Amino acid sequence: MCGIVGFTGKREAAPVLLAGLKALEYRGYDSAGIAVLNDNNLTVCKTTERIKNLTEKTNGGKDIHGTTGIGHTRWATHGEPSDANSHPLLSDSGRIAVVHNGIIENYMEIKEFLQEKGVVFHSDTDTEVVAQLLGYYYRGDILDAVQKVLHRIEGSYGLGIICSEHPEQLIAARKDSPLVLGYGDGFNMMASD
Ligand code: GLU
Repeated sequence: MCGIVGFTGKREAAPVLLAGLKALEYRGYDSAGIAVLNDNNLTVCKTTERIKNLTEKTNGGKDIHGTTGIGHTRWATHGEPSDANSHPLLSDSGRIAVVHNGIIENYMEIKEFLQEKGVVFHSDTDTEVVAQLLGYYYRGDILDAVQKVLHRIEGSYGLGIICSEHPEQLIAARKDSPLVLGYGDGFNMMASD
């Protein structure tokens, strides 16, 4: 289990996410990524190298604008370390982004269910079923979709979720995996440590 960081507030999220991921580096990881919401646009940046590489790619986060975002350091359990398998993972529509620590035990059954409905998967991870199932249930209320997904998934998870149609909403969920919330003055955060 590696790292999750999330931020929503009045200032730019990307530099905060990168600093958070840097602080979580000691836990070990094989890849990393961030997703940031700017109005209704979702920007994703990933690396199979170090956080330093993610920082360089984004000019210290300055090239990515938006005040809500999630970040992840991955320790692969399902699927090799690669850009496709790095988190954040997206729903088919590209509107919902998910970071996950842990293992979704019943991912295969959910994947087959969604594939029968025509959903196309883009990674080998167990985590992608969370993003795709959210997309399947999403009808405008992201919290409602999250609650439906949590009833279907089994296993351990710390989850950070954002949706491009709700640019000021940062959703956290956990079961058997650490996740703490920080309530600040003008901002809120989540982190796996
Ligand atoms: N099981 C997920 C994956 O392989 C998450 C691994 C983690 O906790 O970093 O992508």
